[in-house]
Amino acid sequence: MEVSENFGMLLNNPQLLPELKAIAQKVLHNQRITFDEGVLLYEKAELGYLGVLANYIREQKHGDKTYFNRNFHIEPTNLCVYDCKFCSYSRLIKQRSEGWEYTMEDMLNMVKKYDGQPVTEVHIVGGVLPQYDLPFYTELFSSIKRHRPDLHVKALTPVEYHYIFKKAKIDYATGMQLMKDAGLESMPGGGAEIFHPEVRDQIAKDKCTGDQWLAIHEEWHKIGMRSNATMLYGHIEQFWHRVDHMEQLRQLQDRTGGFQTFIPLKFRNQDNQMSNVPESTVVEDLRNYAIARIYLDNFDHVKAYWAMISRTTAQLSLNFGVDDIDGTLDDTTKIYSMAGAEEQHPAMSTKQLVELIKNAGRHPIERDTLYNVVTDYKDYQFEETEKPKYYKLPVIN
Ligand code: SF4
Repeated sequence: MEVSENFGMLLNNPQLLPELKAIAQKVLHNQRITFDEGVLLYEKAELGYLGVLANYIREQKHGDKTYFNRNFHIEPTNLCVYDCKFCSYSRLIKQRSEGWEYTMEDMLNMVKKYDGQPVTEVHIVGGVLPQYDLPFYTELFSSIKRHRPDLHVKALTPVEYHYIFKKAKIDYATGMQLMKDAGLESMPGGGAEIFHPEVRDQIAKDKCTGDQWLAIHEEWHKIGMRSNATMLYGHIEQFWHRVDHMEQLRQLQDRTGGFQTFIPLKFRNQDNQMSNVPESTVVEDLRNYAIARIYLDNFDHVKAYWAMISRTTAQLSLNFGVDDIDGTLDDTTKIYSMAGAEEQHPAMSTKQLVELIKNAGRHPIERDTLYNVVTDYKDYQFEETEKPKYYKLPVIN
């Protein structure tokens, strides 16, 4: 790819630190950056510099293409046996009156509500409770697939799987094969938080460890399946913890190639046990997307979850390495609205998502979960809606 004018200016900038110039040269020549260089980017690199590098990688991989999908969520329960300090969503079992616990029938009815609608994916994640066990979820997945074979089931994280398999006394490999046989088609990226025990033990002590999270994804990849990965950033972790997290993902991806997308998740501080921790700024959010894009050279996609960071930051992120902004959602998730995200009822029509991407100067593509193109919206014309009415202002002479 041609070196952009911005990249050329950056390389010729006499003020740029030699270490940062060396990283820019590496990016230009498709070379991997090291752990120490990752930390250096967090500590020393300015937003403009990071944007040039991350955008170069993004455009090399995808040009202007920006992906979204048509999906809905099911959150089986907001009760949870765990007590993660950052979680605004879960209610401990002793607060059962504030919670919900959907039955199998409830969840199948939620799926049926979308009969005849062009959604391609159901995303299922929630709290961890004993009754949502191996027989429950294998039956749920197979019932969904029986009812609607074309709907992709993306469900549960290693947090749930670790708990379920332990209770069922089976190992990860056996468990993931049973889930696949039942109809599970991919795994979302949640529950990763920060892998390093120095941080994880303080914010998410009792649930699966970082190593267990990685081991479950590895077993899933080994049977030919795909998954995503996240990182909860902007709380008590230091920059090197973020790089350590991404390094472990990068190493697993080298071994399996099973990850599709990396999704940085911004810590939100409303109504949780870490409300005294300030949230990251938009500049820090954009720097983080860009560094992730630079560091994770073996990940195809970096996603900004618009329901979490707001529509405008999602648009901005498309110049900082992001090529995917998630889906229509249809007001079916509460995980981020309960933590204080700007979007209290997250839902966007396909037209709104397409316009949001086009207004940021990018090329919208509706994808399925595995990034097959469903519809290319580059030159697509939506049916005309009524023109806005304009009112004549009174003119005072
Ligand atoms: S983050 Fe997940 S595992 Fe932790 S308390 Fe919340 S719902 Fe439970």
